[in-house]
Amino acid sequence: MPHFRSQETVDSALRMSNNGVSDRANAEIHGVAVKTIKRWRRQYQELGLPRGQGFQPTPCPRCDGAELDEAAYALLLGWYLGDGHIVAARRGVYTLQVANDEKYPELNQEIAATMRLVKPTASPCLRGHKTAGYIRIEVRWKHWPCLFPQHGVGRKHLRKIELADWQREIVAKCPEQLLRGLFHSDGCRFVNWATKVTADGETKRYEYIRYQFWNESEDIRNILTDALDLLGIPWRKPRINAVAVSRKEGVEALDRFVGPKG
Ligand SMILES: [Zn+2]
Repeated sequence: MPHFRSQETVDSALRMSNNGVSDRANAEIHGVAVKTIKRWRRQYQELGLPRGQGFQPTPCPRCDGAELDEAAYALLLGWYLGDGHIVAARRGVYTLQVANDEKYPELNQEIAATMRLVKPTASPCLRGHKTAGYIRIEVRWKHWPCLFPQHGVGRKHLRKIELADWQREIVAKCPEQLLRGLFHSDGCRFVNWATKVTADGETKRYEYIRYQFWNESEDIRNILTDALDLLGIPWRKPRINAVAVSRKEGVEALDRFVGPKG
């Protein structure tokens, strides 16, 4: 066994450590002793050895001025507001989780790819839930709360959800992406059938499409309707916790960037 590990191994272990992987698991993955992992962390992180020789954390668009892919961010914001959570992991690291039905593998790949665009070094983890039929897509990062300041204690509909000014600016540039994330997480595109009697007495069946969005949070419903308003898409509230788009021109507009899930 060599006494020195390649820089690649050290970097990989430190990256995992920074993403909240425990020292024990990290040691197993890299085939080194737990105390070696501890030493690397001490040397590179706590002693502040010059960056570039070792681990480099992913810079944050908010704290470090890193570039942010705004379209990807608006899409991820939609998913986050719909079916996403941020949970605290170890050592100040947070896990962003987005849950989605396992029936839609393409959408799930899209969520993972979107997370990678927002955090370029991410390798999203897709976890299946054995009985519930959904997938959870996860990425760890210290800076998720910077990107989603809506992060807070308790369920989203029980607390105030307000976009920060910089988020509003991004949404104003990319309302389609936000709407795609929101409708795919908490909404549905229905195909309904109806019959109509024509002038010559014939009964004809025709289909019409409707989009509907459900969320218990009034704040989140308002974020959705604000984005619809930005695009001039007509909507209505069929019930207190729902927003529907059923006028033909509105459905056609949503079909251009939301569409069916599968
Ligand atoms: Zn940050």
